[in-house]
Amino acid sequence: MNATPPVVIAHRGASAYLPEHSQAAKVLAHALGADFIEQDVILTQDDIPIVFHDLELNALTDVALRFPDRARPDGSWYAIDFTLAELRTLSIRERIDPASGRRTYPGRYAGTGVPFPIVTLDEELALVRALNRVRGRDAGVYTEVKSPAWHRAQGKDPSPIVIETLARHGYAGRGDNAYLQCFDDVELRRIRQSLGCDLKLVQLIGENAWAEAATDYDRLRTAEGLAAIAGYADGIGPPMTRIVGFDGAGEPVLVSSLCADAQGHGLAVHPFTFRADALPPGARDSDAVHEGLFGLARVDGLFTDFCDLTRAFIDHRHPRRSRA
Ligand code: CA
Repeated sequence: MNATPPVVIAHRGASAYLPEHSQAAKVLAHALGADFIEQDVILTQDDIPIVFHDLELNALTDVALRFPDRARPDGSWYAIDFTLAELRTLSIRERIDPASGRRTYPGRYAGTGVPFPIVTLDEELALVRALNRVRGRDAGVYTEVKSPAWHRAQGKDPSPIVIETLARHGYAGRGDNAYLQCFDDVELRRIRQSLGCDLKLVQLIGENAWAEAATDYDRLRTAEGLAAIAGYADGIGPPMTRIVGFDGAGEPVLVSSLCADAQGHGLAVHPFTFRADALPPGARDSDAVHEGLFGLARVDGLFTDFCDLTRAFIDHRHPRRSRA
């Protein structure tokens, strides 16, 4: 058993239960005992950092109804083409596939008529601070700079704005209860070395097939790649499927030494993403996934849509942890 309990990172809030990155999802994540609450950050046309996962608005809002003539020629509506005032007129909804209109997770929040406004990074950090005070606990923040190269191609530079906003809320150093994460390794180095950010940094590791950034993720997972990451970051965020798989009975097995290798370089390992309604291929159930990650691999934390289930699993393994 690890001496320090691993941390529960509420992926886009308690996103299994309320629309992702809505204020309600963040309040619920805090109430369900998340150690960290995640913010994906993109910029508006007027350079306001907002908490929203996609560059496009289609899958997550009613933009097609509100602004039918504001799509780009590719058929998508981009948040960066709208001011914050315009974006405030939209409501976040459960994720759909814009092409088919089908819900991505059919069992999740299905209500209509309840507005869930888009939230700025500034507002969310203020909310977490207020919740921490009234609840007497210290949930951290876990902020991601989304697609910095794409933003720059649009004439915008999100990282300095995100760093300044975090600093204004007291998150500036490694000792503060915050992580800053990015899929783009060139950008994360820049954040540390050129922009002088002293926060705990996490290098997200995707799959090259995703074309998420120009980063070569196959190289980052090697011993040389992990050593290089340790030169500018404090942790990695790989897909959980790069760490555990499942045997014919659905029981967890290690599929690589990535977790131990990274920890050997002093890096924390925070894989993504646990979803009880979309388990990795072959997994018997939620416990098998949690057991594989926390019991076999001994990861240091987990991005989870179901922060209550991950919280319960960790607390069962670490019963002496004091809960507020
Ligand atoms: Ca994210």
